[in-house]
Amino acid sequence: MVRTVSRAFFHLLAGNQTLKALASRYGMRGGTGFARRFIAGESVPEAIDAARTLQASGLSVTLDYLGEAVGTPAEAEGATRAYLGVIDAIAAGGIERNVSLKLTQLGLTIDRATSVDNLRRILDAAAAKQFFVRVDMEDSPYTAVTLDIFETMWQQDYRNVGVVLQSYLRRSEADASRMNALGARVRLVKGAYQEPKEIAYQSKPEVDASFVRIMERLLSEGHYPAIATHDPAIIAATRAFAAERGITAGAYEFQMLYGIRRDLQAALTRDGFRVRVYVPFGREWFPYFMRRLGERPANIGFVIRSVLSEARE
Ligand SMILES: Cc1cc2nc3c(=O)[nH]c(=O)nc-3n(C[C@H](O)[C@H](O)[C@H](O)COP(=O)(O)OP(=O)(O)OC[C@H]3O[C@@H](n4cnc5c(N)ncnc54)[C@H](O)[C@@H]3O)c2cc1C
Repeated sequence: MVRTVSRAFFHLLAGNQTLKALASRYGMRGGTGFARRFIAGESVPEAIDAARTLQASGLSVTLDYLGEAVGTPAEAEGATRAYLGVIDAIAAGGIERNVSLKLTQLGLTIDRATSVDNLRRILDAAAAKQFFVRVDMEDSPYTAVTLDIFETMWQQDYRNVGVVLQSYLRRSEADASRMNALGARVRLVKGAYQEPKEIAYQSKPEVDASFVRIMERLLSEGHYPAIATHDPAIIAATRAFAAERGITAGAYEFQMLYGIRRDLQAALTRDGFRVRVYVPFGREWFPYFMRRLGERPANIGFVIRSVLSEARE
């Protein structure tokens, strides 16, 4: 209940333009802005530096140039070009070739065709340079169309692309079976948006139980799945299931978000597991940042302390 209310509250705030303008001015300021805990920077070189540091400590990375729900074809074109530039910069920077993106950033809110054309341009550029592209999953108005676009790309023989399923959605178990049958790579997450009870589990025990059921299905029938969570109980359940079935650590990976449970990221790496860190960057960081606050309201204490200490300087 508290979790649902807190999410709803932060989703409401995420749409507030005044707050966004204020946060954008101060959040990434200097080396100590309060958003830097979760956002690697506003520029590509900053993100590449952050990725290099993570890789030096044995972690893998996926870079996400933040942006979503663009309102005009020109903005979708801008985001697409930016991604093409990010691909070139990553290749030149010599870091791991793996990016994540959102279809509404490429124009899905405007129309399907625009986003498909833009995605295809990115997948072509990515394939030419041996990149893997993960299509993030957004809120439920986009679930079916995102999976549909993914499957269309798959039928057109794109193989350098993967998809995301959210365990809070009641439909995801069936989607997991469909994706396994295709041979597609799935990232499993709990889900970061506010969804109605008709289509989504609301309580943590239900969301977690669904996660474990889908995790087992992905590990036993899937194709190099990514178990994306910071939840120690679910990570332990994943390790136990894999050990019991003789599934080796090379057959799947864990994923976590930049700046969250770095202790756990390091511990799993030490234990011989691959951990990929999702490295978000760019100027459009506010909605992503608000989702992280909504997941764990204790993070607000951290933001307030940062702002106060800056104010004293
Ligand atoms: C690599 C990656 C990619 C993702 N991609 C998507 C996507 O495409 N679509 C989507 O809807 N969601 C995505 N998410 C977000 C996901 O849906 C969850 O909202 C988020 O991961 C928090 O859930 P959790 O599994 O960590 O479990 P929770 O039960 O929320 O948290 C478990 C523990 O993790 C820690 N923790 C979790 N969140 C935070 C936080 N914000 N700050 C500090 N500590 C925290 C706390 O210790 C908490 O007790 C992604 C997550 C990851 C890790």
